[in-house]
Amino acid sequence: MSAGTKYIFVTGGVTSSLGKGIVSASLAKLLQARGHTVTIQKLDPYINVDPGTLNPYEHGECFVTDDGAETDLDLGHYERFLNTPTSQANNVTTGKIYQTVIEKERRGDFLGKTVQVIPHITDEIKDRIRALGKTGKYEIVITEIGGTVGDIESLPYIEAIRQLKWELGKDCIVIHLTLIPYLSTTGELKTKPTQHSVKLMLEYGVQPDILVCRAEHKISKELKNKIALFCNVEARAVIEAIDASTIYEVPLFMEAEKLDIVVLEKLGLPVKGEAKLESWKHFLTSLKTPKTEVRIGLVGKYIELKDSYKSIAESFIHAGVANECKVKLEWIHSETITDENVGSKLNGLTGILVAPGFGNRGIEGKINAIKFAREHKIPFLGICLGMQCAVIEFARNVMGLKGAHSTEMNPETAHPVIDLLEAQKKITNKGGTMRLGAYTCNIIEGTKVFEAYKTVEISERHRHRYEFNNEYLGDFERAGMVASGINPNAGLVEIVELKDHPWFVGVQFHPEYKSTVENPHPLFVNFVKAAVHVASLVH
Ligand code: GLN
Repeated sequence: MSAGTKYIFVTGGVTSSLGKGIVSASLAKLLQARGHTVTIQKLDPYINVDPGTLNPYEHGECFVTDDGAETDLDLGHYERFLNTPTSQANNVTTGKIYQTVIEKERRGDFLGKTVQVIPHITDEIKDRIRALGKTGKYEIVITEIGGTVGDIESLPYIEAIRQLKWELGKDCIVIHLTLIPYLSTTGELKTKPTQHSVKLMLEYGVQPDILVCRAEHKISKELKNKIALFCNVEARAVIEAIDASTIYEVPLFMEAEKLDIVVLEKLGLPVKGEAKLESWKHFLTSLKTPKTEVRIGLVGKYIELKDSYKSIAESFIHAGVANECKVKLEWIHSETITDENVGSKLNGLTGILVAPGFGNRGIEGKINAIKFAREHKIPFLGICLGMQCAVIEFARNVMGLKGAHSTEMNPETAHPVIDLLEAQKKITNKGGTMRLGAYTCNIIEGTKVFEAYKTVEISERHRHRYEFNNEYLGDFERAGMVASGINPNAGLVEIVELKDHPWFVGVQFHPEYKSTVENPHPLFVNFVKAAVHVASLVH
């Protein structure tokens, strides 16, 4: 029932990058493990309508939901922790808020009123927050506000929280995440930045109910009391969030600090028994005690910012655990790979993944890496652009189609083996116009991917404009690269694999968006399994 929905707001202070997303996901996990239905929403204060048009260097990877929303990467964490899908409603930006309000203004919905930040923008923000509660699907909605309190652009969000706190009363709490820095010269943890951050919240009319304090060292009881005194919160509501060796440990840290209990009590919900976290703990134990190790190369062009490939890196962690093995990722910049150095760059790897991407930069390095994986029978997974590069490499070097390319990189190529989707040809706007979200794919039995999925009908998420050119399909199959997954409605080739290779798979979709702790993705699991096998032959 929407009337009974409880709302938790998570704001950040002192500095960005404190891990609001992980703290939110961890709290949600604990509440879910106590039997509550929970969802998490991210409100981003930037003006882009969605992160789809952002370069990964700006905010890291763009995550994609089943219903085709291009979202902040925190939604990936939410899904990986909770094992439930998110949707369009789970990520809202200032751009989206303003776009809606301005559309309403143009339609005349405001009946001649002056349209202002308060109440029109704040009303729209509040509607977006309540929309998830109104679905009736969740008892608890956690809303994470991007950025740091005090940023000019996050002001309307803090104001919307102030109003909601007033309107919802006991059905809503605010958690403020701050930093307690450690001064090594004096050997002390300092609380002043947290005090200032809470003062700023108070200036905006919002008293946090709980403080989650990131720190490099344990926060003593005395220090917690001091923070409580200065910030008007109960001492038990000052939660220590010490650095963890893996993000998957954070729910247990939060449980030890009783964050879930304090939250439930403050929301007026019953606290019964304990959070059921057996399988989570089992996952963590396996993660920390791997039996083997494999080195897999991740070839991409945004390597400088590892967040650009967040979901891929996490999928390898899940798949590693499923194989009782530690996957050591070697991050390789595709621009640095040449014909001459490819052997030394990729030497010793027992798996190679070529990442998704857009545009020409680093493309020949990716193609060189794929040639090396194909010729040396190294397990290979190509995702989206990585799959397209595998097709290009095969066309050029096996089928002898000189200069074969994607029309994205060379519109004049004599052999457009990857070409613009028919539906994309008239599209000129860049935002939200790709082939996005979940599509069905039928798997051909007897293939490597059938071995992985063990089923014929699958659904995977897409984000691309270009596609395998079916005019060449017969030639490819005769030469040994087969289509092992096809979209049943459009006939598009969604998966290619090599017949004469231990494990060489290219997928037009993004399997990494669907891997979770509870459901490691079958393609990553089998890719790592193949890598473990190759490693065992070498030793
Ligand atoms: N640039 C390619 C396309 O648009 C691949 C996209 C991707 O890797 N996500 O089809």
